Amino acid sequence: QAVTYQCPDNAFKDRIILVTGAGDGIGRAVSLGLARHGATVILLGRTQSKLEAVYDEIKAAGGPEPALAPVNMTVARPSDYLELASLFEKEFGRLDGVLHNASLLGDITPMNGYSADTWDSVMQVNVNAAFYLTQALLPLLRNSDDARILFTSSSVGRRGRAYWGAYSVSKAATENLAQVLAEELENTSKIRVNTVNPGATRTAMRANAYPGEDPMTLKTPEELLPVYLYLLGPDSSNVNGISLDAQPK
Ligand code: NDP
Repeated sequence: QAVTYQCPDNAFKDRIILVTGAGDGIGRAVSLGLARHGATVILLGRTQSKLEAVYDEIKAAGGPEPALAPVNMTVARPSDYLELASLFEKEFGRLDGVLHNASLLGDITPMNGYSADTWDSVMQVNVNAAFYLTQALLPLLRNSDDARILFTSSSVGRRGRAYWGAYSVSKAATENLAQVLAEELENTSKIRVNTVNPGATRTAMRANAYPGEDPMTLKTPEELLPVYLYLLGPDSSNVNGISLDAQPK
């Protein structure tokens, strides 16, 4: 049902949604899709020029003015996220959704040779930064009547896979983080917390992981939009603590 979800045109009118990794791949497509459905999108990502390109595309399509948040999540500290949150508090007063989408792939290599520095970076971006950001934004999400936190997993987060190292471990942690938070917030807030596994998708990350694969055989990020719009929008107000496949087998 989520996979074929038809999002009403103005489902995100007056909703303020933050997307991490908004400059490329799935995050870019979801940001554009959210804006098309009326959302004010906060574009958070590492490469400012990519965020600006998404900003320009949203404006050119007549969408609500987005906000830019250039952040390198590999190095940002909890205090940086608190500072950002206080800027959003002044600008918007609340937040209606967060999509944790930015991730590092790291190396595809046996664990005995896995670089400890790469391990740290992958865990930092994929897990620790998602926690810092969520914690900093919770007060703003609580100010919303109907908010969503959506985490991004992967099939290797459901069951570990040889050679996928820190990425695989980070995605299992992400699933668990979402479950912990979903249960904590279920009865004490209007915030709904879920996880999405996009499945094989035509992006730079996928091409890095599978260099021999023909990208044209893969779904595009745009094709996954229904699931993302469903889990980030008003129609999932009764959905909490689940992990959905955007491309079910
Ligand atoms: P991409 O690599 O295409 O995009 C990832 C985005 O995250 C980029 O915009 C990147 O910024 C940003 N990012 C990475 N590191 C940082 C950082 N340190 N600080 C800030 N931003 C950062 O990946 P996808 O679109 O493919 O992946 C999106 C999500 O989907 C990820 O969580 C991924 O694990 C998950 N996923 C993807 C699958 C696929 O087949 N594509 C399959 C399963 C899960 P920049 O562009 O500046 O580098």
